Amino acid sequence: MSQYKNLEEKIKKCCKCHLRGTCLNVVPGEGDTSAEIMFIGEGPGENEDKLARPFVGAAGKFLDELIAIIGKKREDVFIANILKCRPPGNRDPLPEEVEACWPWLVEQIKIIKPKLIVLLGRHAMERFFPGQKISKVRGQALRREVSEIGKQVFYVMYHPAAALYQGSLREVLIADFKKIPKVLEAIDKKKDMPINYVEEKVAVEENKQEALF
Ligand code: SF4
Repeated sequence: MSQYKNLEEKIKKCCKCHLRGTCLNVVPGEGDTSAEIMFIGEGPGENEDKLARPFVGAAGKFLDELIAIIGKKREDVFIANILKCRPPGNRDPLPEEVEACWPWLVEQIKIIKPKLIVLLGRHAMERFFPGQKISKVRGQALRREVSEIGKQVFYVMYHPAAALYQGSLREVLIADFKKIPKVLEAIDKKKDMPINYVEEKVAVEENKQEALF
């Protein structure tokens, strides 16, 4: 069994938090386990819970369209969530649930070793850039050290579901997506440079800069 499959089996059997008692299925994630881009969303919704697959509802359809903009298919990337089990009624994740599920995401990232992690939405951003405002950091490439993972480049975007409720965000998401190939190129060219590849302005608040490279 591959290292990833082995991990996936363990995630599927997880009962570390009470969400396993209310969800139908555990949704570890899917895609190419050696992908250069990994997308991380918030958690499974109703459709995802039923089908045990990430991003399969209307937001997932939009994500597929966005992935096509950069010339890729869903199978070319890896898609996961902060939480692997659906919170009842799609409520926001609780801090203790995020904490309980975090080691699984760390293990996934360590195996996949993505060149770029795209954080979809506020909850995914919050885990890696606590205290930031998504309206401020979206559309920017940020490199930071994560103790369990090491140096990693992130790209923050609005969640595709947000565009379903607020039509004006659709164009913002499309514009941010179109920058991804440039970010990948910049990662290759500027491995050890401080990152704010796409935008010239400072990406984060002064008091958070020590977390960046
Ligand atoms: S949400 Fe995560 S930690 Fe909680 S039971 Fe599901 S897999 Fe385990």
